[in-house]
Amino acid sequence: MTVTTRINDDLAAWDAEHFLHPTTHIANHQKGIMAGRIVTGGEGSTVIDRDGNRFLDAFAALYCVNVGYGRTEIADAIAKQARDLAFFHTFGGNSNEPAIRLAKMVMERAPAHMSKVFFGLAGSDANETNVKLAWHYHILRGEPQRRKVISRWRGYHGSGIVSGSMTGLAGYHTRMGLPLPGFLHTDAPHYLRRPDASMSEAQFLDWLIERLEAMIQAEGPETIAAFVGEPVMGTGGILPPPEGYWARVQEVLDRHGILLIADEVVTGFGRTGAMFGSDKFGLRPDFITIAKGLTSAYAPLSGSIISQRVMDVLVAGSEEHGVLAHGFTYSAHPVSAAAGVATLDLVDRLGLVQNAAEVGPYLIERLRAELGQHANVAEIRGVGLMAAIEFMEDPAAMRWFEPMTVGPKISAAMLARGVMARAMPEGNIIGFAPPLCFTRAEVDQTVAVLKAAVTEVLGG
Ligand code: PMP
Repeated sequence: MTVTTRINDDLAAWDAEHFLHPTTHIANHQKGIMAGRIVTGGEGSTVIDRDGNRFLDAFAALYCVNVGYGRTEIADAIAKQARDLAFFHTFGGNSNEPAIRLAKMVMERAPAHMSKVFFGLAGSDANETNVKLAWHYHILRGEPQRRKVISRWRGYHGSGIVSGSMTGLAGYHTRMGLPLPGFLHTDAPHYLRRPDASMSEAQFLDWLIERLEAMIQAEGPETIAAFVGEPVMGTGGILPPPEGYWARVQEVLDRHGILLIADEVVTGFGRTGAMFGSDKFGLRPDFITIAKGLTSAYAPLSGSIISQRVMDVLVAGSEEHGVLAHGFTYSAHPVSAAAGVATLDLVDRLGLVQNAAEVGPYLIERLRAELGQHANVAEIRGVGLMAAIEFMEDPAAMRWFEPMTVGPKISAAMLARGVMARAMPEGNIIGFAPPLCFTRAEVDQTVAVLKAAVTEVLGG
């Protein structure tokens, strides 16, 4: 296909002049370089721009449009709710029907030891809620000195002040004065980047756990409030953990009274082939952060799912101290909640968790068959419908391409062939996280386009 894009009309000019975009090179955008697309429509796993170009979206926008584009059931639910009641707040016990129904649906799907869900707007604010409630929990229990939070390098937890501090990608910290003091980062479970090439995966896991334990001892276990991690790291490179990783981390945290926040903004609601990554990888979190798949991004909504043991302390605390002074105007927004109810219904009705469990392994199999032998392919990995291919100059010698331009070049070459995949920010990594309705034929198209793009950029 040929992609043609208008760049010189009013809309493009106004975009450059007035609109400060997230995660975009400001000067280049203003000059019209790096102009993105003006997207106008979509159906299934395909998005359409205003010039009529169609792209197969193998990243579900930002791994969020899980049910795919153009679902009229969700649009109708949003329209009906907007007509009936666009908004009323949920402070002071006020409520709305879609939020009540959605809370029930979320808790029916959450791991059994979880108790209640608090609704916010975006993954970032849900993570901030979780940290604040973790601090509140420790204060109520008489341990106010537990303030520090451990996350991991390569983790992504948002762009707020606290969530951005927990994020472990240097680009989100430098020249922003982050992380805040007390936000610590331990090592990422990225076996390919192990400190010593001769380490087995089991030895690497031992090393990770020793380093975590050493950090906790050095800081003082009694000063640490929580550990936050994605069951499968997303933005840091789509990194399924080594076998047994979460059981070992959980044991360390339990021994030191440290709460676990499972950030399931990406992994929640089916992406790993299970409803939650916590189920699949055996985590026993005190908080689960949800967003993206909760509404498939048809409207903004996030949530903090809270465990029974934390809720017990919060309930007792409120008997003594009164109102939980935390909330956003738009918490449990009725229009977003209606989108959530329609989304989770659709996930069930279309069997999308099962589809992720079946089509995901097919994607890995096709990637390995077509690109596994390429001289620059260091690793092909994934779980459910999350996959990545990582490139190195010389994998056997553990020599990386420097600088990290190969990933962006490959994703650009794919886009020119009509398929969207994401160059992940930390490494020459192409990530795949398509809508959960992705078909085998769409996998075949994606892998064929990737292969052509790799050949163009790196040779055959
Ligand atoms: N946590 C994870 C794991 C994420 O991937 C993201 C967003 N990509 C966030 C939190 C932040 O969510 P939001 O952008 O909705 O604030």
